[in-house]
Formats: sequence, structure tokens, C-alpha cells
Amino acid sequence: MFQSFTVRSDATRGKLRLHALRKRLATMQLDGFVVPHADAHQNEYLPPNAERLAWLTGFTGSAGTAIVLADSAHIFVDGRYTLQLREQADMDVFTPEDLIDTPPHRWIEKNLPAGTRLGVDPWLHTIGEVERFEKACSEAGATLVHCDTNPLDAVWQDAPPAPLAPVSIHPMEHAGVSAKSKLAALARTVREHKTAATVLTDPASIAWAFNIRGHDVAHTPLALGWAIVPSRGDPLLFIDSRKLGNSERAYLHDHAELHEPVAFTDSLAALARRSRRPIMLDPGRVNAAIGAIVAEAGGKIVHAPDPAIGPRATKNRTERRGAINAQRRDGAAFVRFLAWLDAQAPETLDEITIVRKLETCRAETGERLGMPLRDIAFDTICGSGPNGAIVHYRVDETSNRRITAGDLILIDSGGQYDDGTTDITRVVPTGPPTQTQRRHFTLVLKGMIAMSRARFPQGTRGVDIDALARAPLWTAGLDYKHGTGHGVGSYLSVHEGPQSLSRRGMAELKAGMIVSNEPGCYRPGEYGIRIENLVMVDAARLPEGGDVPVHGFSTLTLVPIDRRLIDPKLLDRHERRWLNRYHARVRRELSPLIEDESVLAWLQGATALVK
Ligand code: ZN
Ligand code: ZN
Repeated sequence: MFQSFTVRSDATRGKLRLHALRKRLATMQLDGFVVPHADAHQNEYLPPNAERLAWLTGFTGSAGTAIVLADSAHIFVDGRYTLQLREQADMDVFTPEDLIDTPPHRWIEKNLPAGTRLGVDPWLHTIGEVERFEKACSEAGATLVHCDTNPLDAVWQDAPPAPLAPVSIHPMEHAGVSAKSKLAALARTVREHKTAATVLTDPASIAWAFNIRGHDVAHTPLALGWAIVPSRGDPLLFIDSRKLGNSERAYLHDHAELHEPVAFTDSLAALARRSRRPIMLDPGRVNAAIGAIVAEAGGKIVHAPDPAIGPRATKNRTERRGAINAQRRDGAAFVRFLAWLDAQAPETLDEITIVRKLETCRAETGERLGMPLRDIAFDTICGSGPNGAIVHYRVDETSNRRITAGDLILIDSGGQYDDGTTDITRVVPTGPPTQTQRRHFTLVLKGMIAMSRARFPQGTRGVDIDALARAPLWTAGLDYKHGTGHGVGSYLSVHEGPQSLSRRGMAELKAGMIVSNEPGCYRPGEYGIRIENLVMVDAARLPEGGDVPVHGFSTLTLVPIDRRLIDPKLLDRHERRWLNRYHARVRRELSPLIEDESVLAWLQGATALVK
């Protein structure tokens, strides 16, 4: 089992740990300290030794920041996590704040008392973030202190060790383009910016550029390390040699000078000292400690995006084919799971049983079809009844809920396969749904279909079309507090930039990009609804009479959408046609991958015409 159900969060320790941290801060002449959900690589999923925010506060969400002061402590989370925060952290000692409306730097500007010495660990914040903190502190009349050692680490007695999982080579049959040519392209970008080198700190960029995968963080195949790509000559790769077998070492040796991670800071300083040209750093990804190393060595810095991000996001032909195959296989596994779920008496089920069954279906189907499940893409969200309204709910032994007839069950999950990463959400009723539930579900479906059918001119960004999926909900006075979609990697991160379908989606949607399409509707205390397909940006046929070349989405995810929850009266004929064509395609493409007659029969029913 890749998913564990152990209780990770402990609200009862927050008070004592906060006390210990404050004592430590006092000895360092600090009045406050910022604890982000971050590691030195700005990973979304952290290695256990970087779970500082969870250790201190009990909050285990994938985004958030705490600001600890002498007499108050504040936790900033976004709309996905407001309910979860209240359940996981001790609300007597921590005050919840809104990460989107009042991000930490705005809060500092408005609320930090003049004269405060606020500490940060520069390894855990990006260059851009520290600049915002500096500015906010000076507005508030406070001082930002860059700490050489992390005060929280000094009080975290039993912190786990850094991970050392083995590295594997991502073969050409799945990567499509060799590491040699990817690295050459990166060096070209470095030259175009008239810089001496760039530093890759995002493990997903390193994994992509070198065609390697690892297992240092949960559910994302990353190997932690650093890379320096110079304008000419061999790249330098800093990776713990204990992670490398002989063939991986030989392979990497062919592509880079190999060093231990401890050599990274000295090598970077030496490069900055001897280069006449500046070093290219991504202020939104590279941490402030690295920026300071370059600056202190007398090097100049040019701010530019991580040059791997763009090419990584636009999948090549091999990766596109891989994504299609991975989704089809994942769909076959999911259909098997849904057929099973429908055959169970609701009262015999609980959330953990459901999550286990889904992972088993993925593992067995992957095995049978010759492409093993390498991991789940994230902890499966299985929110029954009111738990469905907690957007990023993770079931554990204490939260596990027994299903009752009439519950809606929201299941958001994904798999990691050599040829692709999947992410899908479906909602299943365990009894006759209410009219309101059907109405909410159908409104969400209308938004999901509107995005699936969208046509947009080249140059369109996610922010420009995010509203398409919301419009049917807005018309009904409803909305959801999360983005409509995120980028997805190719056997890499399930959340990947630069593209997103959201208010923050400023990157152009280019052919070959994969995004999720996942509007939702949440009734706190009652149920949650979300329908999620992955789609790929494609050049679309020019509509008749049109003269502007347009892009559109082709749907990758192939799993029926529950007909029992659809109110056909709320769909117009275009929407009905889209749904029926989608279901016909699901049936056509999945049937050859399904052996079990009873599952095939279930699929037949689940994809029958909606009239
Ligand atoms: Zn999802
Ligand atoms: Zn998603």
C-alpha cells in the first residue's frame, strides 16, 4: 500500500512546541520567526525532515505558512484548507489567516509591531518572497533577520533524517528526448540570457533535464539535489552518491560532473567569483540563501524563469502518447473500482476500505497491462458525506467515516506510471440523491463540459478562461474556492507549472500542455462535489467561417460520470451531446482493457445514453 492511514497530525503538542520555539527565539534575539510549508527546493510534497510546519502546528496541508511572535502565532492557509486547519491545529494558540486575501507579507506590513526582529531561514524562502518580506518589514518599521541556523530545527529533537531513496533512469521510450539534447537546450537559454550559468533547484526540473526519477518525497518521483548548467561545458550535478547504483552513476557521469550536495555552496560561490557574466536565477523558485551565496561571492544575478519549466510543460510526442495510454489504463482500473463500489451495501464500507480497494485496482490493472503502478500521485481523497466538503481531505484512522446510505462520496485520486501521471475526481451516490444534490452536480458538470468544449485563440492564458467553468455556478449564486485546473507532469509532479486554469494562471496555454479541469461545489457539513478530467491543449480545427487560429482541449481521462447524479433537464442539447459522446468513447476505449464480464456489464450501464 502506498497510502498510509496513520494519524500524522497532533494538535495537542502545538502549545508546548510553540513554547520551546519561543524560548529558542529569545536566545537568538528574535521576536518572531516565519515557518513556511517549504524545503530548500520549494517542493510541494516535503521530505519528512522538512515537515516543520506540521511538526509545530499539527496542520498537514500542502500549502501554508506560520508566523510565530512572542504573544501570538498565525497560520496562513488558502480556501482548500480552512476547515482542515481548524481540525488539526490548536485554535487556542494559533490564529487562522487567509493566505490569498492577506498573504504573510501583507499581514506583516499591516500588523507587525515596529521594532520587531522577525527571523527567516533563507533556505526555505524564494528570492522573491524574501524581497517581499524585506519590503513589508521596512514598511512596518521592523527588521527581517536572515538566520544562519533554523531555530525550529534546534528544538525539533527527533527530526527524521534526510531521505536517500535510489535514483532510476527514465528511459527514452517514455522520455522521448535525450538528456543530452535537453541539457544542450538549457545551455542555449543560458547563452541567450547572456549569463554564465543557471542553477536548477526544483527537483522536477532536474528529473526532467537528466531523465532520472527518484523517491525522496511522497508520491512524486523526485530525487533531491542541485544542478548548475553553464553556458558551455558540462553541467554539475550535486546528488548524494548513496542514491546511485553503478549503472545510474555511469549514466549520470556521461551527462555531468557529479558531486556530493555538501560541495554545492562552495562550487556555486567559486563560479560566481570567477564568472564575468551574471548567474541566471528564478526568483520565484530559487531560495534566497542561494541568491545570497552568489551575491556575497561578488557575482551578479539575472532574474529569469527556470529554463526547464517551459519545455517540461509542453509534452513531446512520446509523452503525449504516454499520457493517453496511462489515462486509458488508469480508467480501466477506476471502472473496475466503481463497479465494485456499486455492488457493496453502503453500510459495509468505510473511507479507508474504499481507498484501499482503489489502490489495489490500480496496482492489479497496472500489473496485468504490463505497466506497474509506481506510486499513487497523492493521498487519495475519499470524502464521504460532510468530509467531501473538505477540499483536500485525507482520511486517517481517526477521521475514517462509515458510509451511510444516501451519502455522496467524493473520490479524488491519481496514479504514477512510467508513461504518465493521472489525476481524476468522481462523485458516487450511495442511495437516491436529493434534487438539490443533482442540481449542484449538474451545474458543476455544465462548467466541466464548458471548459472541455472551449475554443480559444493562441496566446490565451488560464486566467482568461477560468470563468468558463464557473459561469453555470455563478448564475446560480454558487462558486468554489479553488482553481479550475493545474498543470500535470509526465511521470512527475501532479501539480506542475507554469500553466493553470485559475485567477493566477498567467502562462499561455500551449499545445502539449496537460491541465486538469475540475470545478466543484461544496456544502460544508453536508457534502462535496467535484468532477475532474485531465485535458491536453491541442490545436483545434478552424471553425467554419473563422479566421483566428484556435486551440482547444482534448480529454485524456476516461471514466464514466455518474448518471444518477445528472439532471438531464438542466443540460442543453450541446452539453448532452458532449456527455453522450464522451461516454461512448469511454466505453469504446476501455472495453478492450477489461476482462471481467460483470465489470463490462457495469460499464455498459454507466455509459448508457442520457436523454
Ligand atoms: Zn485531483
Ligand atoms: Zn487535480
